[in-house]
Amino acid sequence: MTEIHLQQHIAPSGEQMTVRDLASCPPPERWHDWVEYDAKAWPRKVERHYAIIPTICFNCEAACGLMAYVDKETGRVKKFEGNPYHPGSRGRNCAKGPATINQVNDPERILYPLKRAGKRGEGKWERTTWDEVLDTFATKIRAAIIEDRRDEVMYHVGRPGHDGYMERVLGAWGVDGHNSHTNVCSSSARFGYQIWCGMDRPSPDHANARFILLISSHLETGHYFNPQAQRIIEGKMKGAKLAVMDPRLSNTASMADYWLPTWPGSETAVLLAMARIIIVENLYNRDYMRRWVNWQEYLATEHPTEPQTFDHFITVLLDLYAEYTPSFAAHESGLEEETIIDIARQIGLAGTAFAAHTWRAATAGNLGGWQVARALWFLSVLTGSIGTPGGTAPNAWNKFVPAPFLKPRPSEVWNELLFPPEYPLANYEMSILLPYFLKEGRGKLAAYFTRVYNPVWTNPDGTAWIEMLTNEQQVELHAALTPVWSETAWYTDYVLPMGVGSERHDLMSQETHAARWIGFRQPVLRVYRERNGEPIDYTYQANPGEVWEEDEFWIELSWRIDPDGSLGIRKYFESPYRPGHKLAIEEYYRWIFENSVPGLPEAAAQEQLSPLEYMRTYGSFEIPMDKAPVFTLNERELKSTDVEGAQVDKLSGKITRNGSPLGVTIDGKAYEGFPTPSRKLEFYSATLKEWGWPEYAIPSYIHSHVHRDAINHDMGEYLLIPTFRLPTLIHTRSGNAKWLYEISNANPVWVHPIDAERIGVQTGDLARVTTEIGYFVNRAWVTDGIRPGIVACSHHLGRWRLETGQGTDRWASALVELVKVNDGIWRMRQLEGIQPFASDDPDSARIFWREGGVHQNLTFPVHPDPVSGMHCWHQKVMVEPAHPGDAYGDVYVDTKKAHMVYQEWLAMTRPQTQRPDGLRRPLWMIRPYRPAASAFKVIPKVPLKEL
Ligand code: SF4
Repeated sequence: MTEIHLQQHIAPSGEQMTVRDLASCPPPERWHDWVEYDAKAWPRKVERHYAIIPTICFNCEAACGLMAYVDKETGRVKKFEGNPYHPGSRGRNCAKGPATINQVNDPERILYPLKRAGKRGEGKWERTTWDEVLDTFATKIRAAIIEDRRDEVMYHVGRPGHDGYMERVLGAWGVDGHNSHTNVCSSSARFGYQIWCGMDRPSPDHANARFILLISSHLETGHYFNPQAQRIIEGKMKGAKLAVMDPRLSNTASMADYWLPTWPGSETAVLLAMARIIIVENLYNRDYMRRWVNWQEYLATEHPTEPQTFDHFITVLLDLYAEYTPSFAAHESGLEEETIIDIARQIGLAGTAFAAHTWRAATAGNLGGWQVARALWFLSVLTGSIGTPGGTAPNAWNKFVPAPFLKPRPSEVWNELLFPPEYPLANYEMSILLPYFLKEGRGKLAAYFTRVYNPVWTNPDGTAWIEMLTNEQQVELHAALTPVWSETAWYTDYVLPMGVGSERHDLMSQETHAARWIGFRQPVLRVYRERNGEPIDYTYQANPGEVWEEDEFWIELSWRIDPDGSLGIRKYFESPYRPGHKLAIEEYYRWIFENSVPGLPEAAAQEQLSPLEYMRTYGSFEIPMDKAPVFTLNERELKSTDVEGAQVDKLSGKITRNGSPLGVTIDGKAYEGFPTPSRKLEFYSATLKEWGWPEYAIPSYIHSHVHRDAINHDMGEYLLIPTFRLPTLIHTRSGNAKWLYEISNANPVWVHPIDAERIGVQTGDLARVTTEIGYFVNRAWVTDGIRPGIVACSHHLGRWRLETGQGTDRWASALVELVKVNDGIWRMRQLEGIQPFASDDPDSARIFWREGGVHQNLTFPVHPDPVSGMHCWHQKVMVEPAHPGDAYGDVYVDTKKAHMVYQEWLAMTRPQTQRPDGLRRPLWMIRPYRPAASAFKVIPKVPLKEL
């Protein structure tokens, strides 16, 4: 019996949680036995009894709360709804959250570990045992560790879904083997933020902002979009104005007060012009700038003979940015001058309540895209809105990652396959270049795990990945840990089924708003059965088939790598409560909740629960503000004992002890500051200058590889935006969610009517889109919702499989033929679109969609930005009507051309290999898995004759 509850709930952050707004919300005291009528039995009133168990959605990075309704009669999950007590999502989810039930019940899901029975990629599989999988990998990894080949073990992650767990595993093994998807995603935006403040993501306080500027489609998609979208709308309802820069009229742009359809890559020019207006019109926060920007360092280094005063710095700023006039920015971007001026003024007037966000979008598309994020942060610095109510905090101030027991020492290994000498500043691993590096003989992989990661489909130049994965000299052993079939899993040795969001443990925290919280993903059927007194030793015993959870997989594998503890690995996987015994997964989290989450033990005790019971019951916890403050943390004062005996630099105020920075002195007081070399906000980056890029030492505009001047429409050339997400899908792991594919099953090429006429296509016509290395054939969609001169195609669709009944889910994929036809040329043709199929789910026979989209990423070469390392996604393309013989979904790729483009972009780098300090990378720059400082040093190779 669903009830109406109008509850007022104030979160520790002071934010009013919106439980009160929900029309239907089971109160926690009734979660153990919640009763609803069976809708299918209507008009009879048949009661169904549910146990409600919270977990965390795994369908994007936002980590929203879910509540699983476990039917007490069947012992199965009936549905998922939002968890109103989750501080980030507050009971609301996007379509992908409830669609978790499709993933649980997917008739195509992999239920048992599979081993290839033929050659790699041949598509022959046999069921194997987990014991066989674990022993095979343990033997291989143990040998690599013992023989000191510690750069041959690699874990390559698409969606992490947890904080810190894997870094601990790799640290315990002593390997430098963390690879990620980040340089096809966000490493560029991250670099722009990091170079300013030492933290690499923005966390806007939208709900309290007066002006919001988004360079993303953040109301519908993007990082933490659902939790943030709620707060953007709250901000708007309180009077905030919203501006959205996007060449596409996204759902977000359609809700904005200002839609700014900039030419891609010109955003930096617009933002710097806005910065100049704010300075010229004296709208900047003078005191904040004076105190927190490293202007002294800049003047002393670059203008040593000029007055070393803040006023003079402002004069120099005006000079530096003199060319960024509204008319210059208008010319570059195509926006109106008046609009640029108007928005700059509103940002200036919003002051400390200016919230701004960019993620992927322009930063991910363009050469020099990292300058977009850097220029955007410049506006936040000018307005003094860093970490203020209504402003934008660095992510680390709004995120909480608790420490586990017994942290391993960082490894002393540096893996040049991840951070090669050409990219010393790359914000994340150079993962898109792995196939080229292996082909060039830079190394090999003895044991390779891809984890919820599908590089064959997701990455540019996917055929290079197929060639790498099928080469057993380059990749000796490969397993895909995945809840769902993928194009990449086809080319592995083992496909290892892992749990979806309701079948695994993880701990998550995201910077969704001005607070810090943790969310507990848990295997709901295991929790349910344990509550009913059934002993469960491993999560797979409660999951469908033999679906494991990864946490337990890594514990088991680590024990087998080091069975007697002699390698020093096993101790990290022994129970902190039962010395010498294997760690039970419950103990891992129990220890964290008891020891590392401020305020949780007290909150649990108030309800007569242990901290673990509290998290199992509610699924999340918001850290009280007094224990984990979130605003202006740079202003935290150091205690006199902290600075006793430390050195203070007279010019900059930087406080160091034995060379390690502690903080900064400003106006006679010692503050913690920012984790940058100067401990201030680095308008001037000595790092960029010292590491080969002096022309980028301050925020500046880099012409994108798809700058307007590079595109000639008269020659049929256009700029292709291939990056945008659909709100209903998530990369390649929503192929097992039938509801989502029922909503979204086509990715036509957006074309403006002016361009459509010039090209000679109408909506529904086939068009051939030709890139540097090949082409794809897709349907056109003629719309005013895109800027003329630009075409766009969502990257979410166009899944494929190579056999009728195996491979990528049939809800989502076309059956294709993919062949290497002659030297370096690959061709794909669809043999059959999406079709109904017979299964235990009657809906599979009702599939009505047929085409399922076109895959475009195969036709893109790699474009690694020479500074940030980010793949620059945007493409210069030719668009024309399809040629005779072209068919929907055709893909053609010339891998020789792809290799040439790789070499062209590699030649743009400036390797810093002969540094006097011997460093491979600045010590202060973060890495997702950070080896010991000693590993940052290049060990000079000793010639053999000297040995
Ligand atoms: S926003 Fe992401 S985490 Fe939240 S419900 Fe949607 S897919 Fe799940």
